Formats: sequence, C-alpha cells, structure tokens
Amino acid sequence: LPGDPRTDTISRQVLHACYTKVSPSAEVENPELVAWSERTAELLDLDPKEFEQPDFPLIFSGALPLKGGLPYAQCYGGHQFGVWAGQLGDGRAITLGELLNSRGERWELQLKGAGKTPYSRFADGLAVLRSSIREFLCSEAMHGLGIPTTRALCLVTTGKLVNRDMFYDGNSKDEPGAIVCRVAQSFLRFGSYQIHASRGKEDLEIVRTLADYTIGQHFPHIEIMNKSDDLSFKVGGVGSSVVDLTSNKYAAWSVEVAERTASLVASWQGVGFTHGVLNTDNMSVLGLTIDYGPFGFLDAFDPSYTPNTTDLPGRRYCFANQPDIGLWNIGQFTLTLSSAKLISEEEANYAMERYGDKFMDEYQSIMTKKLGLSTYNKQLISNLLNNMAVDKVDYTNFFRLLSNVKADATTPKGELLIPLRAALLDIGPERKEAWTTWVQTYIEELVSSGIPDDERKAAMNSVNPKYVLRNYLCQSAIDAAEQGDYGEVRRLLKLVERPFDEQPGMEKYARLPPAWAYRPGVCMLSCSS
Ligand code: AMP
Ligand code: MG
Ligand code: MG
Repeated sequence: LPGDPRTDTISRQVLHACYTKVSPSAEVENPELVAWSERTAELLDLDPKEFEQPDFPLIFSGALPLKGGLPYAQCYGGHQFGVWAGQLGDGRAITLGELLNSRGERWELQLKGAGKTPYSRFADGLAVLRSSIREFLCSEAMHGLGIPTTRALCLVTTGKLVNRDMFYDGNSKDEPGAIVCRVAQSFLRFGSYQIHASRGKEDLEIVRTLADYTIGQHFPHIEIMNKSDDLSFKVGGVGSSVVDLTSNKYAAWSVEVAERTASLVASWQGVGFTHGVLNTDNMSVLGLTIDYGPFGFLDAFDPSYTPNTTDLPGRRYCFANQPDIGLWNIGQFTLTLSSAKLISEEEANYAMERYGDKFMDEYQSIMTKKLGLSTYNKQLISNLLNNMAVDKVDYTNFFRLLSNVKADATTPKGELLIPLRAALLDIGPERKEAWTTWVQTYIEELVSSGIPDDERKAAMNSVNPKYVLRNYLCQSAIDAAEQGDYGEVRRLLKLVERPFDEQPGMEKYARLPPAWAYRPGVCMLSCSS
C-alpha cells in the first residue's frame, strides 16, 4: 500500500522526493554479531556493553526497530560507466536515523542489506557475508590509513541464505546473508542532486533545496563566509577565470566539493587503492570513500589494474584513471548545479580547474613524503613508477622498505639494492642496472635533503603503511567466517586499525599474495553482491 512504510517497497520511480520512508525487512533467523568497531562505537558514544545485549544483533539486522529511529531510503541517480542510468537510489541500504553525540556531531546510521526499497529495481535488497566483510573491514582500514571514508559500526549475519550468480563460472550459489551498519555524517552523493536536475524544470527547485540543506548542515562555514561583508576577496589570476566565491555560496560549495574529491583521489593513489566503481552515485559530496564493492589495493604495481570484472575490457576505473574520472565526475556535478542555475558556467569551469590544481598539489606532496624527501622530484618519481610497473613490484612493501635506504653517497654500487632486496626478488639480471641507477639518484636526493636517516625513516613509516587490506587477506577471513569462525575478521580489523605500526607476530599479513589469490572471485570481483 503506498504510504505504508512497511509495505511500500514496490520498485518504482519516486518523483519529486529525496527519500522514501521504509523499514528494514530482511528475513532474519538467529542473527549473530560477527564483529564491531570500537573506534566507530566511540564516535557514537556507545558503551561496549551494548554490543553484548541479546537485542543488539536483532536491532542491527533490522528485526527490531531502533528506538527513536526514522528509517528511510534515499533517492539518487547516477552515471554508470559514463552513461546516465536514471534513478538508482538506496536499493538495499536503509538509514535508521541520526545520532547526535556528546561533541555535537550528527552521525547517520545505515543498514546495508536490510531488504527491499522502492529503489531495489530488479534486485533483492540483500547483501552476502562475503561482500559485507569486505565493506566492514575496508571502511575501518581506510580510516586507519587516514583517508576520509564512511565508517562501519558492526557486521551481523542474518542466519538466512542469499542466492548469488557467480560471474566466473556462470553458476549460482547460496551464501550466508549479512548486514553492515555504515556510519557517516551524510551519505549524499553527486547522484543525489543529479537525479532531480535530470527530471526537468519543476524539480530544479529540489536541487536548490537539497543544496541549501547540504551547505547548512555540512558546510556551515560557507554560509558564514557568504554573510560577511569584510571577507570579499577575488580568487584566480592570469589564465584562469576570476570567480568571486563570496558572492555565491553554491560556487564556493562546488569548489570545496571539487577540492575534497581531489584530495581523496590523491590519497587513494598514495596507498594504491582502486575503488573499482567510480560511478557518480558512488561519489560522496563530503569527499568520503563510499561504497566498497570490487575495490582492491595494488599488490604488484600495475597502472591498468582494475579489480572489477564489469569494467573489462575498457578499464574505465583502473588505478591510473582514477584522477581523470574524479574530474569527469566533478564535471557532472557542476553541470547539475549550473543546469539548476545555482552556479554559472564560469563558476563550474573554475571548480574543475581547482580540482586539477588541488589534485596535483596533494599528489605531489604525498609522493614526496612517501619518498622521504622535502621537495618534489617529478623525474625521480616517474622513473620509479616505471621501474615498478616493468618489474611488477609490490607497491606497499616497496615503499615500506624504502625507508631503510641510507643517505650515504659512498655506498658501493653492488650494495645499493640490499635494503630493497625483499621487494625486488624477482627482477632479472638485466633489470639490476635500471634499479641501481634509480637508487643512486635517490641517494643523491636524500643527501641533498639533509634529513637525518632515523628521522626520515620515522616520517616515511608514518605515510607508507606496513599493512593494507589485500584482497587475499579479506578472502581468508571470508572463508573462515563462512565456516562460522569470525576470529580472522576480528584479527584483521585490529590489524588494519594501525596500518603504520610494526605489529609483532603479525608479519605474515604483510606477505605477498599466494598463488591462490589470483583466482577469479578473489582478485576479481563483480559490482553488486
Ligand atoms: P553499486 O554498483 O553498488 O553502486 O549499486 C548500484 C545500484 O544498485 C544502487 O542503487 C544499489 O542500491 C543497487 N543495488 C546493488 N545491489 C543491490 C541489491 N542486492 N538489491 C537491491 N539493490 C541493489
Ligand atoms: Mg553504490
Ligand atoms: Mg555497491
């Protein structure tokens, strides 16, 4: 019955609205708590004892309502693989409500896999344990790396089976169902604005209302800036459009979204993270990493790496394309704002320019820090990445080892590669010269930077993680969890919360992927599971 939140889940176009009231409806049978994040619980002022309550798995699987909650699903659209896809929306995510913590921060709690909504289209509204473990762990892993992301509070199994097609053998399989509780200050995406602009003139007012809401709630400094008279400054200069950001709050906002997105993508490139599905509906307006589907961290360095089978052979979302795709997506976002007459074409172009500038600034600064240098050296970095690509060098382990190189120009040529040996085991004799030359130039740079070895090593180890959530590590935790053993999920959570620390006894988690890691379903994944 339309209007009845418990039955109003029939797939349909939801017009002139930003959300629909719905209630979680996934079937559950003895739901179990697999894991929970202490750090996210702290954000929400949750007492660890809460997680031991018998009702906890029932509430976080949606079987019992959250007291004071106001569940709903959001309407959004998006460009999928560069093509406008119309209405998408929260097809399996249901927001339970918002929680105001003791620091006055507002956090939204959302169950992913909690049943159908009007946005489910042809799908079941559910999620399986495999993909839920990946989302749960990677949300907290990214936070551990210092990268903006939606968070994960807890992961519960539903006790029910969910059927999924396996893309690699054409068969389907019953898998355990699960639900992640995601947490963010907002789950608004570029597609949240796009959908209304796409629906014609009368809905442009909704774009403005939603933009006002977003700025008021999440970018309050912009409203303040616009209200003040003394803050009038012009930005831009020769060769760039001159845009007055104090006269139009939407222009200031579009620039901030562009810059946050640029910083986010630069930080992904820094740790070798490939998102896998950078559709505009997966682009957070707060600049958070959102929607962990077929993501992957680089093992062997390969600019064309994509973990997403749906993205072959085009590789639109491969590792090296992410910066350009970020710009393309910002282009769609600013187009939406300009079609709603919130910003001018000039202001839209200016936001895109700022994306490019911000990305280059951040990327250069990140790579310079990864090398432990004080000034950016383009040639040195591009020679390194070329060498790494030729020899398929492990991205994480190489940078971690690099801090062992000493700023000593008298190191005999034959000893230059010793500190990096563990990352360069597979290089052939004909490649030794290229690497030796690179290390020689690197040492010259280290010497001229004048930073003491121990100081540089500490700084490098605080930006080059020892542990990243490699796909094969996730898979081991998934295999055990599917057998009812959640120990590995919990161990991995602890590990990735402190990725820069040496963790005695955990060295095996820094190892290169074993041969089985390259089988389909481990290194390659499909979009929605
Ligand atoms: P994604 O590729 O994960 O960003 O998902 C694209 C769209 O498909 C979003 O609207 C999702 O809510 C929806 N979707 C993905 N999986 C499911 C599912 N199992 N049931 C319902 N909707 C889904
Ligand atoms: Mg998505
Ligand atoms: Mg997804």
